[in-house]
Amino acid sequence: MSQKILTGDRPTGSLHLGHYVGSLTQRVALQDTSSQTILIADMQGLTDNGHTPAKVSGNILNVLADYLAVGIDPDRTVICLQSGLPALAELTMYYANLVTVSRLQRNPTVKAEIAGKQFGASIPAGFLSYPISQAADITAFRADLVPVGDDQLPMIELTNEVVRKVNQVAGSEVLVECRPLLSKVSRLPGVDGKAKMSKSLGNVISLGSGDAEIEGAVKKMYTDPNHLRIEDPGSVEGNVVFTYLDAFCPDEALVASLKEDYRRGGLADSKLKSLLTECLQELLAPIRRRRARFLADPAGLMNILRAGTEKARAETEETAQKVKAAFGLDLL
Ligand code: ATP
Ligand code: MG
Repeated sequence: MSQKILTGDRPTGSLHLGHYVGSLTQRVALQDTSSQTILIADMQGLTDNGHTPAKVSGNILNVLADYLAVGIDPDRTVICLQSGLPALAELTMYYANLVTVSRLQRNPTVKAEIAGKQFGASIPAGFLSYPISQAADITAFRADLVPVGDDQLPMIELTNEVVRKVNQVAGSEVLVECRPLLSKVSRLPGVDGKAKMSKSLGNVISLGSGDAEIEGAVKKMYTDPNHLRIEDPGSVEGNVVFTYLDAFCPDEALVASLKEDYRRGGLADSKLKSLLTECLQELLAPIRRRRARFLADPAGLMNILRAGTEKARAETEETAQKVKAAFGLDLL
């Protein structure tokens, strides 16, 4: 049986280089050999934007255009919208009874995000429990493989706990367990070199960035703080420019020899940065052009989203029905 893949993104901004290396390239490669569904998780986007919903609704078509621009093909991948599939919310309600609040509070990704967002004592209940809705998304499609960045590993773990609990309640294998698929770069740091590149942290290079924007972002990147003079030996580890060269420069031999030169001393940061700028400009120029073309036709994008969501509906309803039956609530 071919693999069943579910993955997705929150439409809280346009997609960025972290999505590209962390997940999008894998999705493009997998769409020929697997049955793949991609969910634009707008309801999950609301969990930290309940009072700023336009940030979510206003980015749905941007994310869709990003998908199409990198080569995700709606004829081979089902692209659907979470809020158009109420069975996902229904599943979330059932699963919420099998997950404790303390289990949610221990989730390291959610914990870090809560600290970063400075919710204080006002953590939205939806935000704390968004991993449960992710479990609903993954299981609704009976996915066994989930291409994600490493921040999502705790979500996969929780999903499998929910699967086992539901199957135990049901006394049969109603849901299937899944495993993550990590890429070679499963956590791209932001241009600040600190946290993971994240839409909500403002440390991104978006897939739609122009040449000048790319150049400006690379210029501001940190290298090795101890590499003060060109002739000083520099450090490659933890040097975000090298991290990006490893991820985005196709000429591996060139990067390897630059690392040697840098370690030895005598290689200017500005040389590295111009190479990285060129690589990124070359990578993003065609994506940016295609993205703009798709965004110029919002009605066409809406048709793709509507058709994908319709295709996804029956499967989500079937899973919700089975879970309802597992709890003995399929009376009507
Ligand atoms: P937000 O800040 O709103 O949470 P985000 O930038 O973290 O946005 P998500 O929509 O939460 O993006 O993540 C979508 C997918 O992309 C997930 O599988 C996530 O692991 C992956 N991803 C996001 N950022 C990175 C990154 N910097 N490196 C690798 N993978 C990433
Ligand atoms: Mg995120």
